[in-house]
Amino acid sequence: MAARALRHFVMNPILIATSNPGKLRDFAGIASPMKIEVAPVPGFSSVPPVVENGLTFEENARKKTEVYSTYVPGEIVLADDSGLEVDALNGAPGIHSARYAAAEPHRAESNTDDEANNHRLIRELQDILPENRTARFVCVIAVARDGQTLATFRGEAEGIILKERRGTNGFGYDPLFYFPEIKKTFAQLSSQEKAKYSHRGEAFRKFLDWYCTAQR
Ligand code: IMP
Repeated sequence: MAARALRHFVMNPILIATSNPGKLRDFAGIASPMKIEVAPVPGFSSVPPVVENGLTFEENARKKTEVYSTYVPGEIVLADDSGLEVDALNGAPGIHSARYAAAEPHRAESNTDDEANNHRLIRELQDILPENRTARFVCVIAVARDGQTLATFRGEAEGIILKERRGTNGFGYDPLFYFPEIKKTFAQLSSQEKAKYSHRGEAFRKFLDWYCTAQR
């Protein structure tokens, strides 16, 4: 990593626009081995939420970071939009992953809880054979300063949806997301282990490469 960029991040935490403690833990798990800190955008909890009505992960990630970066003038702000695409469900819950347990996820105005979302996923896939339970997590990170997107980065992780939860770490669909390469679900990993394999880890490493190149 370029020395100047590393120095910048050692001295200034990377600001993340999220109120999701699971995402923050994931980002910290990716960044901490590099001695980089992450922190939520200051005062984030009192900022009005952005309506996530884009049609793609990228559109929603850009929307979030463009709005939230205006609250911290001159600073780089990261936001991610992420979700689970299940092949047997034609890519659902996809961009609606956070509201999957709602009667109409595409119309829901607020998120439903992880427990209810997992319950619905188990139910929707109850008759699907093991070989057809393939899925991927997708994460798009958008980076903005003063309301302007500077770049976006995509990461994906391929796995299989189990019939029952396994593991207690992580958040969201982690207990159902089995990662064949290590024969564990994401909920059986520490946040540093998850960072090695996850969609968020891949997207964040691409962001760091870009940032370090831009700083040369
Ligand atoms: P967002 O806040 O609109 O990006 O919603 C992301 C939703 O996708 C979360 O609420 C989770 O349900 C799901 N999700 C995204 N990334 C992960 C992950 O790393 N593990 C488990 N679930 C995830």
